[in-house]
Amino acid sequence: MTSPPIYIEVAIALPVHNTYTYSVPEDLSTLATTGKRVLVPFGRRRVTGYILGPSKEIHPEEIKKVLDILDEASLFPSSMIPFFRWIAAYYMYPIGDVIKCALPGGLNVCDDHIVTIKAKGEGALVKNLATPLESKILNLLTPAPCRLKELRKKLHKQIPNSLIYAMEGQGLIEHTCKLKGGTTKPKVERYVTLTGSNMSVHGLSDSRKKIIEIIEGEGEISVRKLKARVPSAPNLIKHLETDGFISIFHKRVYRDPFGETINSDIPHNLTQEQATVVSTVMASMGGKFSTYLLTGVTGSGKTEVYMQLAAKAIKDGYSVLILVPEIALISQMERRFRARFGERVAVLHSALSPGERYDQWTRIVRGEVAIAIGARSAVFAPFKNIGIIIVDEEHDTSYKQDSGLRYNARDLAVVRAKLQNGVALLGSATPSLQSYYNVKINKFKEVTLKNRVEKRPLPEITMVDLRKNRDVRGIQRFITPELHEAMKTTLAHGKQVLLFLNRRGFASYPVCSACGEAIQCKNCDISLTLHQTANAYKCHYCGFTRAAVSNCKTCGSSKIRLLGLGTEKVESTVKTLFPDAAVARMDRDTTRRKGSMIKILKGLRNQTIDILVGTQMVAKGHDYPNITLVGIICADLSLNFPDFRASERTFQLLAQVAGRAGRGAVPGKVILQTYNPDHSSILHATAQDFQALYNDEIGFRKNLNYPPFSRMVQLKISGKNKEKTRNHAQALGDLCFNLKRNDRSFLRSLEILGPIESPIPKIAKHYRWQILLKGKNVKPLHRFLHKIWFENRAAIHKPGVQVVLDVDPFFMT
Ligand code: ADP
Ligand code: ZN
Ligand code: ZN
Repeated sequence: MTSPPIYIEVAIALPVHNTYTYSVPEDLSTLATTGKRVLVPFGRRRVTGYILGPSKEIHPEEIKKVLDILDEASLFPSSMIPFFRWIAAYYMYPIGDVIKCALPGGLNVCDDHIVTIKAKGEGALVKNLATPLESKILNLLTPAPCRLKELRKKLHKQIPNSLIYAMEGQGLIEHTCKLKGGTTKPKVERYVTLTGSNMSVHGLSDSRKKIIEIIEGEGEISVRKLKARVPSAPNLIKHLETDGFISIFHKRVYRDPFGETINSDIPHNLTQEQATVVSTVMASMGGKFSTYLLTGVTGSGKTEVYMQLAAKAIKDGYSVLILVPEIALISQMERRFRARFGERVAVLHSALSPGERYDQWTRIVRGEVAIAIGARSAVFAPFKNIGIIIVDEEHDTSYKQDSGLRYNARDLAVVRAKLQNGVALLGSATPSLQSYYNVKINKFKEVTLKNRVEKRPLPEITMVDLRKNRDVRGIQRFITPELHEAMKTTLAHGKQVLLFLNRRGFASYPVCSACGEAIQCKNCDISLTLHQTANAYKCHYCGFTRAAVSNCKTCGSSKIRLLGLGTEKVESTVKTLFPDAAVARMDRDTTRRKGSMIKILKGLRNQTIDILVGTQMVAKGHDYPNITLVGIICADLSLNFPDFRASERTFQLLAQVAGRAGRGAVPGKVILQTYNPDHSSILHATAQDFQALYNDEIGFRKNLNYPPFSRMVQLKISGKNKEKTRNHAQALGDLCFNLKRNDRSFLRSLEILGPIESPIPKIAKHYRWQILLKGKNVKPLHRFLHKIWFENRAAIHKPGVQVVLDVDPFFMT
């Protein structure tokens, strides 16, 4: 008896917006469960797809068969599918690509087209029988077969598939498909265990006896570990197996991303304030969605609150997800959670190797851990049943992904909590205006920690006006006497100093002293930064590098003035000022190598570093009780960004970096140097007064109808050809205006700004334009986007010009 065919809904890992129905052959039918990957035919290729569940739409005549099931167990629980669908719809991103972006990389396989020239093709070349385009293709194929993709690249031309098929039909070329990918795989190790049947060790060599003894003690042991104790083990175990003493088997093991083991800790007795927060949030846990904004001054013990809430969730059988903005902070959070929860913690972040990431993912899917800590992508951690999602430092801009699927993990945390009836807890000492506004309109509930633990005072902030130093030459221009004195005192007391400057490199604005031209990147409209250690000028946008000895490109002069300050220069200056102090620097340049960041943080913890100079990397969340002085070299750098959030960001950055001071028993001090002592963001940061900032900013946002009073979507248009890019931007702009004119519902609900050239008009050889759409709320915006994106696809897509959609854009450059 044959059972009726099974139809499944599959999301294809390709940029297609629909899902597709496939039938499952009978021999695979028991294996085809939701959350597994399948190999399916799609067009003329075989590609990876994800099973979303049984299919509802069935047109049996058109349905193709699944070729293979690629996973033994599901990669994600079915409870995540509504989440994936939500993301695809909201960010207007293909659902298969959403899932691909969520999963660990390197798993998928798909067909690669390879084209080979045949004898007839070679003949056609010799006899000149092919068309010019065909000849070009045949010429490129003469040395060796080539991937179709590469062929297109080499020709700088769109080769239509029909041409390839036609040439194949004529016998000029052959075109084959080969599966590629699938580079991330489970790690397996060889293990040994005793069979129990042959136990007479009499007459065995000492080494063999020792091996048996070890296995007896351990139950089972990996051959790798055994070898460490008995070097000849790999050889001997084969004999022992033949003689029936032991059996050798393969076992999946996890790659270990955790370095050292950590001593366990005991929960603190909560302060009154902490206890109130914990009990309030706890009351909402267990099957009811709500979002809390935890506003707690720096050093108020938010992490302890997170840990006690996590403990409660786990006790009730739920899982816990914790998002942290930066890898340095993940390691701090991870230490604290592992000290409390031991083996029940998984981590997910970009510093893991693909294999480690896959293993952490597996531990979560299998339910072997209850807590996952990670950066923004951890919002996709495949837990079935989440009780609470915590987003630490919720204001942080690194929650926004700025390429591919341009999601905001903070927002997705709230969405996921809602879809799974969990609690979202967003914590920050400097909440985003958006979240605080959500409190005001009762979308979020606020819980507060007003005091630092043990009533430690907030640091005292002294503002130093840099304008009075304008004429000072040399070091004192930016290490003012006030800062210099404070550093001396701090070091004399055996305490640590943190110096903050939000710009890396040695000189960020090199200028030719002969002709006055700035030294610019050849690919971008931006000046190069001198990096002394690397002895080169570098572009921070495209990575372009030029030797530091180069002359001015305009006049040829070799006299370059090094204007513009960066962390590298601060570091070298501080080293001359304090030759006996141990000075370190933390920025993107010094933390590129794996483990280098951890090393710096360890130095801070062990106090082998006296002075740390750093960019915004040092500003966030760190808890080092011996830092008693924070020096803000120049508070103004982020003020002049062409972005309506510039004031908000400046406030957050300054208040956060100030919060690194005085977290231990000794009160902290902050010296804030600025050219804008009257600017409201700087004043409010000096007063550490978030309320004042909010009141100022929210009025401005309301007047200009910026978020949180509107939603925005940005269309980013870029291309290598200046004219073409500009024309396409204009054409898109016209399309938008026409759509708006022709639909009365858009007239009032939607605003179109642009098209305008982007603030940085050229990056990495690409000219850049943008159109900004503003809507009162998200519905008309989405309807509008659907019209341009799906109903006018032909007008949107033009060869050589790229258009991307950024829903809720964060970086306006
Ligand atoms: P935040 O994240 O709010 O900036 P942390 O969670 O890092 O603050 O806490 C600051 C310090 O206070 C940490 O060293 C932490 O161990 C300690 N701490 C937290 N809660 C308590 C408490 N109830 N009693 C004593 N110390 C505490
Ligand atoms: Zn010059
Ligand atoms: Zn560049």
